[in-house]
Amino acid sequence: MKSKKNTVAACPSCGGRTLVGDHPQIGQFVNCRFCGEELEIIKLNPIILDWLYVPNDDIYSKEYEDELSLANKWEY
Ligand SMILES: [Zn+2]
Repeated sequence: MKSKKNTVAACPSCGGRTLVGDHPQIGQFVNCRFCGEELEIIKLNPIILDWLYVPNDDIYSKEYEDELSLANKWEY
C-alpha cells in the first residue's frame, strides 16, 4: 500500500468523512473536522471510528438498582 494519503473514515456522530491521517492506527485519537467530536479509531480495514467518551451503562444501571431496592424497603 503506497501513496495512501489523507485516509478518511465516517464520523459516527455526523456521518462526515473525516481525515485520520496517513497512517491510521487503532487507538488513534481523531477530531472530526465537521462536528468537532473527539473520536478514536477502534478498527482498521475498514476504519471504524467510535466516540472517545462512552457513557458507562454499568454504573448507571447499578445506581438505578440501588434506588429500586431502597424504594422497596419503604414498602410495608
Ligand atoms: Zn463528525
